[in-house]
This record gives sequence, C-alpha cells and structure tokens, in this order.
Amino acid sequence: MKVMKFGGTSLGSPQRMKEVAKLITADVDSKIVVLSALSGTTNALVEISSTLASGNKNEAKLQIDALEQHYQTFIELLFNTDDAKLKAKQLLAEHFEFLTIILKISFSEALNKDILAQGELLSTKLFSIYLAEQNIHHVLLPALDFMTIDSYDEPQIGTIKVKLAQLMQRNKDTNIFVTQGYISRNAKGEVDNLKRGGSDYSASLIAAAVNASVCEIWTDIDGMHNNDPRVVDKTLPIEQLSFEEAAELAYFGAKILHPASIWPAQYYNVPVRLLNTMDPSAKGTLIAEQAGSVGVKAVAAKDSITAIKIKSSRMLLAYGFLRKVFEVFEKYRTSIDMITTSEVAVSVTVDNDIFLADILKELELFGTVEVDTNQTIVSIVGNEITETKEVMRKLFESVSTIPVRMVSYGGSKHNISLLIPRSYKEEALKCLNKGLFGLE
Ligand code: ASP
Ligand code: MG
Repeated sequence: MKVMKFGGTSLGSPQRMKEVAKLITADVDSKIVVLSALSGTTNALVEISSTLASGNKNEAKLQIDALEQHYQTFIELLFNTDDAKLKAKQLLAEHFEFLTIILKISFSEALNKDILAQGELLSTKLFSIYLAEQNIHHVLLPALDFMTIDSYDEPQIGTIKVKLAQLMQRNKDTNIFVTQGYISRNAKGEVDNLKRGGSDYSASLIAAAVNASVCEIWTDIDGMHNNDPRVVDKTLPIEQLSFEEAAELAYFGAKILHPASIWPAQYYNVPVRLLNTMDPSAKGTLIAEQAGSVGVKAVAAKDSITAIKIKSSRMLLAYGFLRKVFEVFEKYRTSIDMITTSEVAVSVTVDNDIFLADILKELELFGTVEVDTNQTIVSIVGNEITETKEVMRKLFESVSTIPVRMVSYGGSKHNISLLIPRSYKEEALKCLNKGLFGLE
C-alpha cells in the first residue's frame, strides 16, 4: 500500500487533474490518494469567511459567486459525458447552496471550519466523478470519518489507524482509495482542519496509519532544493535527506513540505518521496532514515521572526532563571525556535507574536527586555555538518558583510542557524549559495 498526495497546483486545471488520474493508474499497486483543494480555493474560502466575519454579506455573496463560476468553467473542461457533467453540476449546486445558506447564519469559529472544508470536499468529489467517467474503479473515503484531532489539535494516530482499517476492510477488492487532505474532526466531533498546508500532514498520518511502503508527495517542483529558487538563480535538487534533515529544512523555511508531516513518517519509518507532476520521471527527493551522505545539503530561510533578549544581573550564577523564562512562553503556548545565552543575558526567537505583549510584560519582571522584529532565521542543514571540516570557516566567510544577531551551533549535528535582519536575507542566501555550494 502506498500513499500519493497531490497538492493544489497539481489539480489547478482540468488538464492537470487528468494527469493525476494517469499517475495514479500508472501501476497496479494499492494506494490511498490524498488530495488538497484546487489551487486558490482555500485562499478564496479564507476570504469569504473573513468577509462574513466582518458582517459584509453582499461582498461575501459576490466572492462565493466568483468561486462558483470558476468551478463551473472547470467542470465544462474536465468532463466529456453528459452524465458526468450532470453529476458534477449537482455536486456544485449542493456545496454552493451550503455556502449561500451560511450567509443567513451568524458567524462562528465552527462555521469558519465548515467553510474551509469545502475545498477538499469539492476536489475529491470532482476527481471521483472523473475517475468514474474513465471507468477507473475506486472508493472515496471521507476523511471526516477517520481523521481525528484531540482538544490540543493533535492528531490521534491510534484512532485514525483503527477507523481507517475498518473503512478499508469494507472495500477489500478496491486498490484505489481517494480521500481529502487537510480536513479532520475535532474532540467535539465538529469539522476542523490540520492548519494551512496540512494536506501533507494528512498524507503522512495516513501513511503511518496503514504502514505504507512509501508516502509520495507530488508537487510542481522536482523535490527539495539546496536553496530558495525565488531568491537565488541556481539551485540543485537534493537526492536524499534523513528525517532529521528534512524536519529542519521544512521547519526553517523550505515551503515544499509541511513541517509537521515529518514526525508520523519518521516514527513509523515510512519513506517519503517528493515528486514532480510536471516531470514524473525526475528523481525528486527521498526522505528516509538514512541521510545518504555527509556535509552541507541546503540553506533555508524563515521570515517574520521576533528576537527577544532578557538581560538580568540576577542571572549571574543563578540557577532556575531559564526555567522561569521558558515558563512564560509555555503559559502563552508560544514555542521558541532559537536560543543563545551569555552569563547575564538570554536571547530567544519566536515566530508567533500573538501573545507578544503579554509575554514581554511578564519577562520585564526578570530584567531589561529588548525586542527586534522583522528578523530572518537562515538555517544551514546537512548530515553531521557540525562535524564536517571547513563548514564554519566557509559559513562565516560567506556572511562576512551581514550583521548576524544570533548564532545557534551544536543544538543538533545537522543544523547551524543564524539570525539576521530580514532586509539582509537575499544577500545572505546569495553569498551562502556561492560560499557553500559554489553556485552563482
Ligand atoms: N488546501 C489547504 C491549504 O491550502 C491544505 C493544503 O493544501 O495542504 O492550506
Ligand atoms: Mg502544500
């Protein structure tokens, strides 16, 4: 059994959706196909939701109509037979009627989640009608019947495993299952989701739950690259990464894979393959237990970072100081990314400043607090890089013109991180591309 996940751009046009059908029927292996919403849909739904939340029903109606129009055009080009077109029309009517009905209901968080779920429900149902039109035998498994999260928004892998096994058991002679990424049910039984970009996470949870031979993540680029192609001219795909390396890269900026999607695959030891729908025979990137090689593999950057420095003479020779500092962040459920300390000060970074004002107020009780917003973490990732000769020299030579605010070395063998002002990011990534990879 394998898992094949296709993102929004792989379903972005009727033609691309047809390609996906070809890819899933290219072999006879049993598979679970996980789909995102068509590209642009979730963004449109987020907008509809926020327009509704602000009480502007007329504007929301216009946005809903525009989205419906997009789907009407899509189905005209996707289907050949009148029968399939009729089914698709009925499907659109059902889902857009729901969106129209909500215009009359008062807005709530639960309703917001219902709205956001429409994208994946539509994409999978349309795809299922298309497969049926092509006489491709398959079963649509509703993710809301097995994908569950607890009251801390954590997926319940044990429950997912049992429920999914039961559903599949009922369809023993099927070898293509199709399901929705992203959506789930929460502890209250309501429709919920795994956060933006969460379809990768769904795929990896499903792969772990069924003990899949591989979890394939299909996108429109040939795997993870050694640097950000939007910033530097030349980048190279990475052939193989360990789960640890991939987690560092996904977390610290490589947009191709949702960071949470690494742990289920790692824990249940399911290899992940990043593949390209535009070039299906390209090698892509394999993420597995073994790293494949030693040395620097990639640099990645993560923006919108806030650095907080707490300076206190009371920290001198004191124990328990860090615990008190960390407790403040724990209280506000804000996770710390980077940390550096000196004898009288500690600097940390966070990527979520929702509770920043509250956090700062409490930290000020311990000493002087300084805040730098709009920072970027640049991470250099590679198997055992902290033990690889010359890496530090090359690294510091490369960034000699950049004002580095923090350096984190030795937290793991696979990552060295620098904190720099956001305005220096492009320069830093270009210098590192040259200094570490010899690419200009
Ligand atoms: N459709 C959702 C989003 O755009 C989930 C995903 O694509 O992974 O965030
Ligand atoms: Mg994605």
